[in-house]
Amino acid sequence: MDGAPKSDEEFQITITRTHKDYFSAHKALYAVEDAEKAGEIDFAALRRGERPKILSRPWSVEIYPTMACQIDCIHCYAQDRNREYRFKSMPVEMMDRLHVSLHRMGVRGVQYCGGGEPLIWKRGKIAEYIGGLNLDTTRAGMASNMLMGHTLADPETLRRMIFIEVAVFAHDDESYFQVAARRNCPEKVAANVKLLQEVKRDNGLESPAINAKILINQINYRWLHEIYDWSVSVGFDNIHLRLVDDYEDGVEVALTPPQIEEFKHSLLHLCDRYGLDYWRDNIGFILGAKGSSGEHSRCWTVRLGLNAWVLSNGEVYVCGPQWGTPEYCIGNLNFMEFDEIWGGAKHQEVAAKIEDRMMSSGCYKIGCRHIKQTKAINAALEGQVAFPPADEFEPRHSWFL
Ligand code: SF4
Repeated sequence: MDGAPKSDEEFQITITRTHKDYFSAHKALYAVEDAEKAGEIDFAALRRGERPKILSRPWSVEIYPTMACQIDCIHCYAQDRNREYRFKSMPVEMMDRLHVSLHRMGVRGVQYCGGGEPLIWKRGKIAEYIGGLNLDTTRAGMASNMLMGHTLADPETLRRMIFIEVAVFAHDDESYFQVAARRNCPEKVAANVKLLQEVKRDNGLESPAINAKILINQINYRWLHEIYDWSVSVGFDNIHLRLVDDYEDGVEVALTPPQIEEFKHSLLHLCDRYGLDYWRDNIGFILGAKGSSGEHSRCWTVRLGLNAWVLSNGEVYVCGPQWGTPEYCIGNLNFMEFDEIWGGAKHQEVAAKIEDRMMSSGCYKIGCRHIKQTKAINAALEGQVAFPPADEFEPRHSWFL
């Protein structure tokens, strides 16, 4: 099989302040084990290279309720794309139908995504959908700027959530304004995080983990210590660190090599100050290229149908970085239900096309987490890694791929 693993780093998706298993790609093994137990796949046939049927449900689904956002971050990865979608918002009746399908299929993880901001959709109405998820089968996650985090402050909503990933890129009003062109925000973010932590505490909830995802760009890279101190003072459960990439043409926000060098000194100093050994040990991963090594012509996410992306205009995709490209769209909720689209002729045709083009597109070089999950599945099929035990399902956030 292609893409044989070389080190733990090959499986790591991001680096938390202290070691956490949940950002390791091995969590994908729960999904394939589940499919094997349900008789949907046969490991021996997969090893022989036989093409399996698309699974009867995606393990996890990412939903973009809106392409609009109330702030304007210089590092936004989807500004052009959102403009092309005319900052479209999903109609309520479509969101209703989508959730009926997700419930019918027993999808494990539903992530309400940022880039648009999910909490501005219908003024926080997304909390109602989270509160309605089936606790026996499904959990929610969210990426948000947290400016409307108060709309999640209900125990029945939070009980169904595993994580909330909060974009953090500033430490006071002026720094926030420089990055996102909006005033009076850091205090709102802080107040909302504290409110949600209070609701968790008052109701004995262990989740969701409310995490700061510190995003470093060309404007804020000299403020690392201040941003980190602010994140600690707010009371996040975990802090992640990521250098942004230049996703769209004509946008230069990723650090230049001299800036990376300067940032490295600042990060090492921070590690010294707070004993952040895990960040120090993984500094190469934090500062380095995110792409996956090796050449890849197979992606289990696409081949089995482990994940789906549903956009605010109803388009459905099976490969994240390809969303917005019409020839890779497998269907549209304006014309069919999600569970009718899934596994249909168009889905199969698109999945085959994506894999046929993987080598020439080199999609995995951009740091797609799904190639790391593919490597983890390959390693398990080859007997190089063990399937993780059932009691690690929750700590690994395995509801979401
Ligand atoms: S970008 Fe490549 S590796 Fe990632 S999901 Fe798509 S096909 Fe798979």
